Amino acid sequence: MQNSIEGHVVLITGAARGMGAEHVRGLIAHGAKVVATDVLDDEGRALADELGDAVVYTRLDVTDEQQWRDAVAFAESTFGPVQHLVNNAGIVMFGSIEELSPEDWQRTLDINLTGVWLGMHTVVPSIKRAGGGSIVNVSSTAGIQGYGNLGAYVASKWGIRGLTKTAALELGPEGIRVNLIHPGPIRTPMIAGLSEDLAAAQPIARIGEPEEVTAMLLFLIADATYSTGHEFIIDGGAVVGQVLDTINEQ
Ligand code: NAD
Repeated sequence: MQNSIEGHVVLITGAARGMGAEHVRGLIAHGAKVVATDVLDDEGRALADELGDAVVYTRLDVTDEQQWRDAVAFAESTFGPVQHLVNNAGIVMFGSIEELSPEDWQRTLDINLTGVWLGMHTVVPSIKRAGGGSIVNVSSTAGIQGYGNLGAYVASKWGIRGLTKTAALELGPEGIRVNLIHPGPIRTPMIAGLSEDLAAAQPIARIGEPEEVTAMLLFLIADATYSTGHEFIIDGGAVVGQVLDTINEQ
């Protein structure tokens, strides 16, 4: 990293485990103060206890506007106004369009898409009080292409793209950059049940590690000072294209 984020206040959702927890580690290693939030209170508190005074944990269900307001107030009273928001929380529900229940469709959209909107809606005033900063939203390669049996997840992740671009347009003049990351398959509890073969056809034919995504997050927060509204892909080349078998006889 070229620019310092020493002392910057970062609020991150879904931070108790997986990529979120790795982002917390990366942020404090570079001197940030982190408000880690999740609905997994035991894991979240354990992470904060392990990492020391630069991290505090508070419960935040991203679908609940009042919990967002409480989390912002807690962040401000603990560390000061939030400079960076990382909308990382997400869930995945498998099921074809025919099979998925309307309740599971709605729950996915509530957490993955409305949660991101609510986050920006409630945290932007704090970022303005801080004098500017940045937002990183978390989409997926499922926000770039379709995946069968993942309709709700795909729709939510495509939705975040539009929201990110809209936010970038609205907030650029306020000194707030808004960018999007698209992880491919990353080794976290979310994909623990899926086969390692998932990555076999990628140019980089392995599952990614959370710290490889954290590296992009840190770049976007600290150094990408001329990028906003844009999308950054960390996927081992998964969505680059596909190799066709050679056909010698026509
Ligand atoms: P994960 O399941 O380990 O972590 C997600 C976190 O979000 C969990 O700690 C969970 O408790 C939290 N969460 C769920 N519902 C919540 C709610 N209502 N309010 C607040 N927090 C809530 O998964 P992960 O892989 O670390 O996922 C992080 C983000 O990356 C998600 O947005 C996910 O969609 C995205 N992503 C993951 C992959 C992958 O392969 N792992 C790929 C692309 C995108």
